[in-house]
Amino acid sequence: CGIVGILGKEAVAPQLVDALKRLEYRGYDSAGVATINQNKLDRRRAAGKLRNLEQLLSENPLPGTIGIGHTRWATHGIPNEINAHPHQAGNVAAVHNGIIENFRELREELTAKGHKFETETDTETVVHLIHDEMQAGKRPIEAVSAVLGRLEGAFSLAIIFGGEEDLMIGARRGSPLAVGHGDGEMYLGSDSFALAPFTDEVTYLEEGDWVVLTRRTATFYNEDNMHVERQATTALASA
Ligand code: GLU
Repeated sequence: CGIVGILGKEAVAPQLVDALKRLEYRGYDSAGVATINQNKLDRRRAAGKLRNLEQLLSENPLPGTIGIGHTRWATHGIPNEINAHPHQAGNVAAVHNGIIENFRELREELTAKGHKFETETDTETVVHLIHDEMQAGKRPIEAVSAVLGRLEGAFSLAIIFGGEEDLMIGARRGSPLAVGHGDGEMYLGSDSFALAPFTDEVTYLEEGDWVVLTRRTATFYNEDNMHVERQATTALASA
């Protein structure tokens, strides 16, 4: 339902939660964040309101200067902690809005290959697919580009990788996504309103686009995997 991503300078978990609060108006049933700290991916997820996630984070803080966060509105799999995003397979973690329509076929294929699924969500197939491509030797960017071509449905995604503290990938197909440009920081959000506290310089992904982010660069590709230029705009504060 709501996506945020931050490539920052300080621990990003509190900022991720603040940005998610700005998306609460959209409604949600659970929430979570994942960060990378000393190359390791770690997650905190909670059913219910964001204050449950905040409580978890105060008991067990999540360090790391790169991270993704999500408020979920369940479509596949009941709203509980296990099904809450971010989802993870190996060194890959992702948050997802929308629906992967062909997840059952993909899940069967991956299960036959030995992948173990922990959740009932359509989303978990995405992280296993990327992990599978990486196990076959692909680098993160090539793995994501291969996987995007296999997904059917309307979705947006934010993806991070253990071992990669300056890399985040976003993708948009039928569900909005925007990049926020900071000063040596980069942001991703399903709604520019979520990014308003951080920056007013925003680039909207066009339909089918995906983007590779570092703290200093945003490189856009279209659905044919061609490098494209997308212009930044100055977002008008909507509240
Ligand atoms: N289909 C995904 C799920 O049920 C994402 C739902 C959403 O957009 O929040 O987990």
